[in-house]
Amino acid sequence: MEFIVRQLSSRPDTMLVRYDCACGCKPNAEYQQGSQEGGYEHCCCGNVHFLGPQAKAHLETYLADRKAQALDEDVGGYTVYETAVEAPWGGTVPVAYALPHHPKAH
Ligand SMILES: [Zn+2]
Ligand SMILES: [Zn+2]
Repeated sequence: MEFIVRQLSSRPDTMLVRYDCACGCKPNAEYQQGSQEGGYEHCCCGNVHFLGPQAKAHLETYLADRKAQALDEDVGGYTVYETAVEAPWGGTVPVAYALPHHPKAH
């Protein structure tokens, strides 16, 4: 998975991290410098990515909640990955993402 980092020109303390999804979408997650909260996007095909501190923990909580509500039975579970991207203001910001075993149609 290749992530693309963009800095908002109107809000230079905010970054967007997206990827070109195989389904054709361009899911975006937003993160503000110094924030403890990150953003995420859950793509229509089932891919989901979280950005920000504790991204992996937030992602795992999110997936566990969905599982408890039986929302993801059709995708057959997820594989979770963790990486990091370079922030426009220096340093790195964690990214965690999950890929469904059986992606949904776009
Ligand atoms: Zn997708
Ligand atoms: Zn899509």
